[in-house]
Amino acid sequence: MTIPDKKATDRSSLLARLDGVIGLDLTVTATRHHTPSLLEISLHGDDLIGLEVGAGQDIMVEVPVGNAQFVRRRYSIVDFSPTTGTMSLLIALKGTGSGEAWALALQAGDVLDAVGPRGKQPVSTQATTHLFIADHSAVAATSQMIRSIEFGHVHVVASFPTSQDVVSFAAREPSVKVSVTALSPVDHGDVQPFLDCLSAFEDDLFRSEGLQCYLNAEFSMVNTTKALLLERGVSPAAIATKAYWRRNKSNAPHGEPIKD
Ligand SMILES: Cc1cc2nc3c(=O)[nH]c(=O)nc-3n(C[C@H](O)[C@H](O)[C@H](O)COP(=O)(O)OP(=O)(O)OC[C@H]3O[C@@H](n4cnc5c(N)ncnc54)[C@H](O)[C@@H]3O)c2cc1C
Repeated sequence: MTIPDKKATDRSSLLARLDGVIGLDLTVTATRHHTPSLLEISLHGDDLIGLEVGAGQDIMVEVPVGNAQFVRRRYSIVDFSPTTGTMSLLIALKGTGSGEAWALALQAGDVLDAVGPRGKQPVSTQATTHLFIADHSAVAATSQMIRSIEFGHVHVVASFPTSQDVVSFAAREPSVKVSVTALSPVDHGDVQPFLDCLSAFEDDLFRSEGLQCYLNAEFSMVNTTKALLLERGVSPAAIATKAYWRRNKSNAPHGEPIKD
């Protein structure tokens, strides 16, 4: 039996060690600035036709880092259609990084080497109140997760680097009430505006039985806001977290933020 190499990021190694993913050859059909700091990449692939993708799931794309070396970067799937085999990515621009350089150079006709779908943060079908805490890098996942909610109340606290980068969030079902607090301008990874905002929320929200929270953002921000929610009485089971990146540190070659 071959033991999978846990560090290798080439397609066949990833397929050998990750459950439920397939290799995806995706052709760029268009790129545009969704906002000044959010790059939208539209993609098509026959591999996407008939694929099952959950709201908030992502793909791992191969990104060059020089000297014929590659790493993976994870980007959430937006506007997925299993009928037309299309989807998009929304990539936060922050001025540096291999993923960003790769994304900015993409042109229509380029083919991406991707693996997916990945991600295990399901939207609760039982919750009556959903609280999303997201920075700019999690706009894509947050928007898709909200669109999948069929009933209840959604609160979103999201940060954007400038006021021109603020995007709206809407549910697909008209009966779902969405309240958004857009924090801007907020420096990438600055947690204080989130803490100030959450501290002003009523205790009733945090103590409600049907609450589910989703924290997707910078590593320290996720940990700090989770601690605040626990302090305010939210049960650990009602808090789902995923760190997307880490301040002043590149993500690891497999696409995850470096852990302590
Ligand atoms: C499950 C998952 C889903 C993700 N989905 C998305 C998505 O839909 N859209 C998206 O934009 N990103 C998403 N990310 C983050 C993304 O995968 C990369 O980490 C990010 O794009 C940075 O990669 P990079 O190679 O450009 O920079 P890196 O080489 O990783 O980092 C270079 C420098 O940039 C800093 N940096 C990294 N990200 C940010 C940021 N957002 N703001 C400010 N500084 C930053 C780092 O601290 C470092 O100093 C996701 C991550 C995960 C784990």
